[in-house]
Amino acid sequence: MRVVLLGAPGAGKGTQCKRIVEKYGVRHLSSGDILRKERAEGSELGAQAQSYMDSGKLVPDELIVKMMAGAIGKAPQAGYVLDGFPRTVHQAQELDKSLTSDGRKIDAVVDLKVNEQIIMERMTGRRSCPKCGAVYHLKNLKPKVKGRCDHDGTELVQRPDDKPEVVKKRLETYYEQTEPVVGYYKKNGRVLEVDATGGADEVSARLFGMLDALAGK
Ligand code: AMP
Repeated sequence: MRVVLLGAPGAGKGTQCKRIVEKYGVRHLSSGDILRKERAEGSELGAQAQSYMDSGKLVPDELIVKMMAGAIGKAPQAGYVLDGFPRTVHQAQELDKSLTSDGRKIDAVVDLKVNEQIIMERMTGRRSCPKCGAVYHLKNLKPKVKGRCDHDGTELVQRPDDKPEVVKKRLETYYEQTEPVVGYYKKNGRVLEVDATGGADEVSARLFGMLDALAGK
């Protein structure tokens, strides 16, 4: 199964992707996570992406398209769920081109829908583990020990791009450049719209209902 998960930053894409991976055995391909790993490893791509990421702007399409083509090429037979990619219409077109040339297609495009107030609350309260990448929330998903990762005890941090002023910029970028991707997929086929308000379990139940129907389960 090949799934594209769309939605504003803070819509819960990362959380739902992890659950899709557990249920359907596909690989989670998050462009943001791959970029953060590149940065942590000090690669050239990581260095090129740094200033864009820290100011809430998009990394240039050509870098991202190449990076994601590499990750998709290594995905298992079971498929993948794309998280944070494609983020511009050009990226979506490039993805389509490369899939068509391999005789493949995306099985489902899901749009997680949530309002702006909830996005601000979710993102500015988010804390992550710089070591393992686990994600917490000051109110909704507290770690067992305050300020420490449940898995490795590392001190949790706020991602530089989760600070309120950068979240605002990321949302502007989303409305300008990424929302048109939903329109692109609507023109080319079906987009499954999922109400992403409420707790993660509620959202998963709605999402799995749709994906199960698609997978004929
Ligand atoms: P995310 O964790 O998906 O919110 O991504 C964090 C940051 O990485 C974004 O604000 C962008 O700067 C960059 N990024 C991630 N995915 C993409 C993409 N598909 N195209 C361009 N930039 C991206």
